Amino acid sequence: MTVRRTDSVDDLVARAREGQARAVGRLISLVEDAQVGPGREQLREVMSRLAPHSGGAQVVGITGAPGVGKSTSTSALVGELRSRGLRVGVLAIDPSSPFSGGALLGDRIRMSEHATDPAVFIRSMAARGHLGGLSWATPQAVRVLDAAGYDVILVETVGVGQSEVEIAGRADSTIVLLAPGMGDGIQAAKAGILEIGDVYVVNKADRDGARQVRRDLRNMLSLAERPEGAWRPSVLMTTATDRTGTDEVVDALAAHFTHLTDSGELTRRRVRRTREEVEAIALTTLRERWGELGTDDVEELAAAVVAGETDPYAAADRLLAESGLKD
Ligand code: GDP
Repeated sequence: MTVRRTDSVDDLVARAREGQARAVGRLISLVEDAQVGPGREQLREVMSRLAPHSGGAQVVGITGAPGVGKSTSTSALVGELRSRGLRVGVLAIDPSSPFSGGALLGDRIRMSEHATDPAVFIRSMAARGHLGGLSWATPQAVRVLDAAGYDVILVETVGVGQSEVEIAGRADSTIVLLAPGMGDGIQAAKAGILEIGDVYVVNKADRDGARQVRRDLRNMLSLAERPEGAWRPSVLMTTATDRTGTDEVVDALAAHFTHLTDSGELTRRRVRRTREEVEAIALTTLRERWGELGTDDVEELAAAVVAGETDPYAAADRLLAESGLKD
């Protein structure tokens, strides 16, 4: 998508900041579509206009295996946050789907009790596989929502291995959701899960085994060594379907945010994730330059390495030199 001429970037940004959902939606579409292609210059302008208004929102990642109740919990969280007068943005990211809208349509429907609330913005996004994917589109969509004045931005991802760890790196606070009857201990022990959560929630507390999952989780978490003054992850129980326990989750998120702010960790986390975003943009620009050079050039260099005429380091130097980045 490109923004029509009649809709200046200034207008769109101004309307988004007034909380007009349509303008917010169009800016996010621009983020999604302009990663490669003609919208790039507009995106650059949008980001530059938004920059002074960033940083006010708490970005909360929610992850967990399919079926644990992420969508239901997100919906419950939105309800609880709204009852506290907060404006909420929701991004549902599907790392596996190349198509926007398809697989996540169900989520949107389930969230529809909030669909008519002007203080709630819900959007499904596909994390595209190319040129950085998650590492670029998601933080920029978050930036749009942040600058548009949403107080809390919930970023929901399906837990599929690496991507959930990745999303955790992009949030201020990460909720890891578990549920009984889903492999229990095994799912908790899954690579990375025990390191990424700030708030652990055992959902489906109305089902047998929920307490056992909580016990196992607490035991495993207690084994971790934490430096003095570090945040101790909360382990809570919810029944998302009737919102039981959701208020405690929101309290824990608020406590975590206070901890992040007071300890200086908030800025450190944000710098870390923004650094990756900056690198991803730079690498994309670099790849585009090579694209302009023509893939033949890269291929020729690779062929020269294969033929033993040069080595990969010298070939990389040549590539950087031809991009104007190295003498
Ligand atoms: P997701 O795949 O992680 O987004 O999970 P969903 O939110 O779609 O929930 C999966 C199923 O579990 C749905 O049928 C929900 O109604 C159900 N569910 C969600 N939360 C609870 C809960 O607290 N208790 C019970 N019994 N079922 C739940």
